[in-house]
Amino acid sequence: MKTSVIPIFIPHIGCPYRCVFCNQWQITGHRGVPDAADVQHSIDTYTAGVTEPRHWEVAFYGGSFTAIPTTLQEQLLQPAYEALATGHIQAVRCSTRPDFITQPILDRLRSFGMTIVELGVQSMDDRVLELAKRGHTAAHVLEATALLRANHFTVGHQLMPGLPGENWDSLKQTTTAVCRLHPDMARIYPVAVLDHTELADMYRAGRYKALTVHEGVERAAYMKQAFLEHTIQCIRTGLQATKDLDDSTQVLAGAYAPAMGELVDTRRYGQQLFALLDILEKEPIMISYHRRDTSRVRGYRNVTLIGAGRRYGNQLQWREDSTVMPGCIQIGTASQGRYEIYTDMRMIKKIECST
Ligand code: SF4
Repeated sequence: MKTSVIPIFIPHIGCPYRCVFCNQWQITGHRGVPDAADVQHSIDTYTAGVTEPRHWEVAFYGGSFTAIPTTLQEQLLQPAYEALATGHIQAVRCSTRPDFITQPILDRLRSFGMTIVELGVQSMDDRVLELAKRGHTAAHVLEATALLRANHFTVGHQLMPGLPGENWDSLKQTTTAVCRLHPDMARIYPVAVLDHTELADMYRAGRYKALTVHEGVERAAYMKQAFLEHTIQCIRTGLQATKDLDDSTQVLAGAYAPAMGELVDTRRYGQQLFALLDILEKEPIMISYHRRDTSRVRGYRNVTLIGAGRRYGNQLQWREDSTVMPGCIQIGTASQGRYEIYTDMRMIKKIECST
């Protein structure tokens, strides 16, 4: 069944600090504080006229939900709770800070039917967290994740590769730590320098070197691949395009691209495909994939197909094949056998040898 999210934006509400990179008004395209009537209105508007069965989720995004005053939290949750009780929606979720997760907080969320909590983790390197002025440490992430698990919540982690002070060692340390904690899902947002943030000031003053889109894709692809190999679902890569973000005067630099998700998958698939093609002898080769994976295998705007043509000559053929499992690339050769690449697990299996 299709899952549809009813987003309720609470930009910066509850945030005890302003993290250097953050401008939720720009990211969400929303301002102001919603009230219970706004939540009710969103539920009614989104679900009106939809006749086929759907899994509806009310999601509080863009601020620190569990850090906002209790009375307002309860006011916002009440319409969602009532919609849950009548079966109008099926789940309630929020995103919040790791240092605002306690047993009483989780008891309150539970009593209003919330089952999914996403934590703004950003990094597991305390120095990076300090430079980003997050106001919490990696230890808070460990504690919050454990407490959410103990209370049977579905847990998400949100990560931001490319923050000040991060290098590849730090990124790998964060990735390993997250894999060990094993949240149910992750979102990866490579850093974009948004105007009206402290990061923008640091960038303008030459105190922060922004990632290029290419570097952002590399780092996000590394993280996503590791998460998938640890069966952590990766539900988003890159900021959702909004009118503000697509305004080049608002994004000063960094790894923002509306097609970030496709670019990241292009890199993951391309790396694995080339790793196998590199060790095969040159001969006619058939590359088959499920239709769902066409743009991942051929690459965003055919970049992998074009690159492979330059690297291996014109002996490659590409085709969609509905018998190939999604996520798998089949490589057929005349004399070197048949291979399958299971991209999420970074695994190559030799199926048969024709010699
Ligand atoms: S990153 Fe999260 S905690 Fe920090 S300012 Fe933005 S919404 Fe608030």
